[in-house]
Amino acid sequence: MKKTLLALLMTSAMTTAQAAETYLNFGTGGQSGVYYVVGQSVCKLVNRNTAKTGVKCSPSTSAGSIANLRSIEAGENQLGMAQSDWQYHAYNGSSEFADAKNDKLRVVFSVYPELFSVIARNDAGIEHFDDLAGKRVNVAEPGSGTRATADLLMAEKGWTTDDFSLASELKGSEVADALCDNNIDAFFYNAGHPSATVESAVAACQPQIVPVTGEYVDSLLEKHPYYAKASVPGGLYGGMPDDVPTFAVYATLVSSTDVPDEAIYQTVKAVFENFDRFKKLHPAFANLTPQDMLEKGVTIPFHPGAERYYREQGWIE
Ligand code: GLU
Repeated sequence: MKKTLLALLMTSAMTTAQAAETYLNFGTGGQSGVYYVVGQSVCKLVNRNTAKTGVKCSPSTSAGSIANLRSIEAGENQLGMAQSDWQYHAYNGSSEFADAKNDKLRVVFSVYPELFSVIARNDAGIEHFDDLAGKRVNVAEPGSGTRATADLLMAEKGWTTDDFSLASELKGSEVADALCDNNIDAFFYNAGHPSATVESAVAACQPQIVPVTGEYVDSLLEKHPYYAKASVPGGLYGGMPDDVPTFAVYATLVSSTDVPDEAIYQTVKAVFENFDRFKKLHPAFANLTPQDMLEKGVTIPFHPGAERYYREQGWIE
């Protein structure tokens, strides 16, 4: 009798553990970027509950938005960070995703604004985006959201990479050294601020963030509602007291309807039940509110697991 009960208990415990195990591979960006911090932060909160929920999350570095959207479609990643402009295109099958429409793509929540930033050496004669013609510019790694958005901006201005004397494709983790070693005059970076990438360049060679304004920016904004005017706030980096005007998108967390609702429910629950802790994990998270995270930069439907939690909280109807 005793033996049978023990055997029964063991079988049921094993079944529960096996059935509950869901792995969430989370595609982020370069190691010095802010996406990587989002991945680490979300996974840390999710993994505190693994014994109870069976959901295990692990962040990995990647080229950024475009690479993350593609690996979610391929089923290699279950979570990923993506700029709101590329979230929109991947779901709708437009622009870069004309041949790769993913109607299973879903948003979980948005995070913070990402500002299209041009960081330039002080001795390069670059005061504005317009001054980049003929300069050595890191146009960013293929597969990054920075590069994809830069390509759209350049096309709007009537430029190609041939308008620069050098168009390098270094990773985010390599650009600060390249700038400060005088191998490039400027780099593009579409990210939350402050970011470790810009901080390390500022510490090593005090570059400037220069304005990105003009008719070509206005026409880009007119055509695409998910772009908005914004400024890199002054005072975030040493020696940069003034706001710098440019345009912005939102950093968003995306997934797929192929990922079980329960796993995404547990993911958002872990973040919002520990929201004060989450907001302390990076300065770009400090002013987040659930309201903004459910609204700004959300251009596609929510994942059903996220929706369930938001309904329970009364945040959506
Ligand atoms: N927005 C950038 C991209 O999609 C990544 C920024 C970051 O890593 O924080 O490539």
